[in-house]
Amino acid sequence: MSNTASLDFELPGTSSKEIPARVGAQLRGDFPGLLTVDGEPWHYLDTAASAQKPQAVIDAMARALGEEYATVHRGVYGRSAQMTLGYEAARRRVADFIGANSENEVVFVRGATEAINLVAASWGGTNLGEGDRIVLSMLEHHSNIVPWQMIAERTGAQIDICPLTKSGEIDLGALEALLTSRTKLVALAHVSNVLGSMLDARAAADLAHSVGAKLLLDGCQAAPRMALDMAAIDCDFYAFSGHKLYGPTGIGVLWAREDILDGMPPYQGGGAMIEKVSFEKTTYAPPPQRFEAGTPMITEAIALHAAIDYLAALGVDQTLDHERTLARTLREQLGSINSVTLFGPDESAGIVSFALEGVHPHDLGTILDEENVAIRAGHHCAQPLMKHLGVPATARASFALHSDEDDIAALMRGIERTQRIFG
Ligand code: PMP
Repeated sequence: MSNTASLDFELPGTSSKEIPARVGAQLRGDFPGLLTVDGEPWHYLDTAASAQKPQAVIDAMARALGEEYATVHRGVYGRSAQMTLGYEAARRRVADFIGANSENEVVFVRGATEAINLVAASWGGTNLGEGDRIVLSMLEHHSNIVPWQMIAERTGAQIDICPLTKSGEIDLGALEALLTSRTKLVALAHVSNVLGSMLDARAAADLAHSVGAKLLLDGCQAAPRMALDMAAIDCDFYAFSGHKLYGPTGIGVLWAREDILDGMPPYQGGGAMIEKVSFEKTTYAPPPQRFEAGTPMITEAIALHAAIDYLAALGVDQTLDHERTLARTLREQLGSINSVTLFGPDESAGIVSFALEGVHPHDLGTILDEENVAIRAGHHCAQPLMKHLGVPATARASFALHSDEDDIAALMRGIERTQRIFG
């Protein structure tokens, strides 16, 4: 794979070429997790799996769990009313961050996995039938494969797989050829967690809509890296996880257009999602509450708000530029080593997958760990993509807004040492 021309469409958030005020090493001090237990710099290159947290997020979470803590939506006492305001302010902050029309389009879930399962079970359960088609791509994360297989089995729908271009991007020409009037849903990664490939989301939305299908975007890797505007992208569902966006685990977002959410039945039943309950008949609250059964992730939502504030203040579009530059540098350096195979396009959103001849990625990861460098080694929850690439696993380095050339240098030193060890 690799060696392709640069992207021929403009990514959201790439128009600003200003030098970021603070990025890379200047931000390390904001992240207490970037030190080893011995106080040495830790070269964390696994942000695509989960991001380190800035102190502002840790503080917001600690306050919400401490002096501010109370449950939401129920208490008549002041602290609970205050917490409810905080929880709903987080929803408005998310809506604003992604360019939603209204906060009613923002459903808080545990993470992207739950968001996609929600859409598959609720929307898929009512809108898919025998012979309908769902289109996924070859590079999807298991979270954007398995929920569709489960609902396909229940409804009799069929799954079509959109191939990739030689360089590892979702092939929009092939997507167009796959679409028919039976296609009801297209579900694609906005940015690949393995290859870093970036999708022209608007073009994918236009294609899906041309046959009357809905488009779901798995935005797990895009949300922390590019400015999002739901209206401009014109998709129907967007899913992402808070913990990859410098926020805590246990919180994620499903965005969907209000009219679509309105027509969807509940995903789970319980407290908070109802209008009226009797043994004869229960009626449900409007969205987003209809999809938030039970006591919600209160402190996590408030900490996600802090994470978005942190990222937005730095400029999420600048994050993309910064990470793309680092990815380009790493690709150049890795490309100069004969025994390295690079996977994915030359221009990636801060995620670089590679293999070192004769060395299993797990062994590489273990040796790098001794050098205080953390990378990911494995199938990255994308086994069909691994099969397509013809490898059991890859090594993956993924950048964050705090990453810099020192991280790359440490990685390259570790790779040289690994080569010496393996002869
Ligand atoms: N999709 C992509 C592209 C991802 O990278 C991930 C996380 N690795 C997920 C979905 C699932 O996210 P989560 O585990 O936070 O639900």
